[in-house]
Amino acid sequence: MQSIEIIKTAAPKQKPDDSKLGFGKYFTDHMFVMEYSPELGWHDAKIIPFGNLTLHPAATVLHYGAEIFEGLKAYRTPTGDVQLFRPTENIERLNNSADRICLPKVDPDFILEALKKFVETEKDWVPHAEGTSLYLRPFLFGNDETLGVHTICNAKYIVIASPVGSYYPEGINPVKIMIETMDVRAVRGGTGYTKCGGNYAASNRAGEVAEKKGFSQVLWLDGVERKYIEEVGAMNVMFKIDGTVVTPKLTGSILPGVTRKSCIQLLKDKGIPVEERLLSVDELIEALESGKLEEAWGCGTAAVVSPIGQLSYGDKDYIVNNFEIGETTQYLYDTLTSIQWGKAEDPYGWTVKI
Ligand SMILES: *Cc1c(COP(=O)(O)O)cnc(C)c1O
Repeated sequence: MQSIEIIKTAAPKQKPDDSKLGFGKYFTDHMFVMEYSPELGWHDAKIIPFGNLTLHPAATVLHYGAEIFEGLKAYRTPTGDVQLFRPTENIERLNNSADRICLPKVDPDFILEALKKFVETEKDWVPHAEGTSLYLRPFLFGNDETLGVHTICNAKYIVIASPVGSYYPEGINPVKIMIETMDVRAVRGGTGYTKCGGNYAASNRAGEVAEKKGFSQVLWLDGVERKYIEEVGAMNVMFKIDGTVVTPKLTGSILPGVTRKSCIQLLKDKGIPVEERLLSVDELIEALESGKLEEAWGCGTAAVVSPIGQLSYGDKDYIVNNFEIGETTQYLYDTLTSIQWGKAEDPYGWTVKI
């Protein structure tokens, strides 16, 4: 395994107030960087002072979108320790994304060690207040200095970290969602199952239109028939219909979320039936109209779970569960956050201590 050189900053920053963190506004003192070339493979792994990058103006990432990323958090436990939540899942997904975009894969064992070492270096940046965490953003991009369109040869892998506030400073709140019938996020055979930057660029317009109309997010339909439910914004989505939790199955255009996977496990272990299958918008509307839709929520690392209080389709608005957080949604939120922040036992071995 390669060694990791650590070059400490000579000018540590003042840490922000835990109550004013927001999301992705502040960055820690250091970053992890590593280079890839066909001759040397991954090399030059370093933790260095946080700072701007120097890129050739023809760098592949700036023209052809060769970029993938991950998102996970480091949590402070009641005893003051710091832990990660299922980081090997993120690393595996990073390699699946790399494979799809033809970026070089990483050595999972080394990347986990590097991540732990980096978080160890930035340990004091993991905030203490309720619901706060240190968001970790690994990313990998093509860095060939040519405009020729070809498979990427040179690449960079970087991890930056940002202390983030509680997603719900005023308590967990249901949101309004618009079912998107024009734009699509991804198609089967495309890059929907990868965390690549381009997926986000493609979803900007619909998100912006929805926001202007007073919605928090859009509910994406499949790219071929605009018929099947896929995701909600940049979260996976789950519906409790007549006692059963239904979530879209991973067809290739849906991002396989770590939170989604964890929710499915928790639900099954609580004896709540879960179906991963195609769910058409017609079936969903029928469940809304017949009163069989009991709860709906999005799930992802940032918000953990986000209850859906209203779904709008065309010019019709449907209220879900009286615009209140449902019992199952609350159960998932409480159980997952307790494990992540080390307030409850972790019977699954999901947490990794730093
Ligand atoms: C990151 C992401 C998710 C959630 O994945 P987690 O691993 O649970 O954070 C869901 N959908 C999209 C499009 C995403 O980018």
